Amino acid sequence: MKNELVSGSDIVRRVKATEGSGLRTFRTERPRVWHRTSGAEVWDVDGTRYLDLDSASAVATVGHCHPRVTEAIIRQAPLMTHAPSGAPSVARAEFYERLIGIAPGGLTRVLPAVNGALANETAIQLARSYTGRTEVVTFSGTYLGRSIGVVGKAGKRAYREQVGVRSDAHFLPYPDPFRSPWAGGADPGEVALGLLEAWIHDPASGLDQIACVILEPVQGNGGAVAPTDGFLRGLRELCTKAGIVLIFDEIQAGFGRTGYAWACDHDGVVPDLMTVGKGIGGGMPVAAVLGGEDILRTWEPDAVTSTFLVNALNCVAASAAIDVFTDEKLADRASRLGSTALDQIRAGLKAHPRVGDVRGRGLLIGIEMVADLTHLRPDAGIAAEVAASLGKNGVLVGRSGRHANVIKVCPPLVITETDLAYGVSAVLEALNRL
Ligand code: PLP
Repeated sequence: MKNELVSGSDIVRRVKATEGSGLRTFRTERPRVWHRTSGAEVWDVDGTRYLDLDSASAVATVGHCHPRVTEAIIRQAPLMTHAPSGAPSVARAEFYERLIGIAPGGLTRVLPAVNGALANETAIQLARSYTGRTEVVTFSGTYLGRSIGVVGKAGKRAYREQVGVRSDAHFLPYPDPFRSPWAGGADPGEVALGLLEAWIHDPASGLDQIACVILEPVQGNGGAVAPTDGFLRGLRELCTKAGIVLIFDEIQAGFGRTGYAWACDHDGVVPDLMTVGKGIGGGMPVAAVLGGEDILRTWEPDAVTSTFLVNALNCVAASAAIDVFTDEKLADRASRLGSTALDQIRAGLKAHPRVGDVRGRGLLIGIEMVADLTHLRPDAGIAAEVAASLGKNGVLVGRSGRHANVIKVCPPLVITETDLAYGVSAVLEALNRL
């Protein structure tokens, strides 16, 4: 539906005339002006329809504007929108209970957050208070958000440079089955675990006081990378033995995305703390930290807060999204649709001279672009070109990867099979046209 009152170019001009230059708006000359969304579809203000294979940056897990989420917001809006964090509400109780209801066993308490970065900051602060230690271990390619409390723990230096924040975690290489030359041909998961073990036990390793190890059980912005088999279990064992808090960031890979309720379910590993966000809010700004009785009762009242932590509209939207997730069996759906899509993409790109790797779990699929198949040099330019040409043809995909050379396919889990098949064939066509 075209909005007759405005044009896309006029909106771009007005936003660019008034917005500070740090946002992605300024990355392209003529960004798309979103106007309406539904399920896996997006329409711009000029009436052009797009198939969203990116879920608006992995947010539209239950689909854009799911009717049950919309209805919950409409019902709540006239009743109460804001309540301070000291005032419990029905909306809040129902959200917590539902979230715990779908969480891995043993994670029975919640601390709310409004976005993923805040959830990760809270988890790290909590781990420090609980252990009385300070140091944070994470991995190359990690993305925990952009706030000052976590951007120093980002793998990619480009995220820190502009904002003048130094790296302030201890980074181990993430065991990427495709790109781990540092492992010298050995299992990269075992090598990474060996390094961590040495850090912990060698009195001259230079590292002590490790409060937590924080990582994504499947990296999203790092390029849809699942670690090698056995790695998460090994990490669990090491952390338990050393009294280190293990934190899984399930903000992008969780909530059914990888074909399991949580990405860590693939390995049967439960962290001490788990952060959630993105899709959990059904399109509203909701995130949280989950953990067990002991650790989640570390703090005295008022250790943390933020004005909009428990906004009632956000809570009811999240409850509705969780109901949709459960009732529509979205994790199973992601597993089934994702495995078909992955097979099709692999078959369609077999021996493609610019595709180094096709990988994925559930509906989180990565296509890693390279300059050639001999040296596998990452090629960000070609990934950008493919994403742009798909966009021009009405299909939105994500871009990710340590070198920005991975095309990411992560559609809403409610996407119809017809739309997904169309999207996959559009992706194959764009790549095979190269
Ligand atoms: N953690 C992961 C794995 C993410 O993918 C993101 C966002 O992309 C974040 C944390 C940060 O979340 P937010 O942008 O809501 O702060």
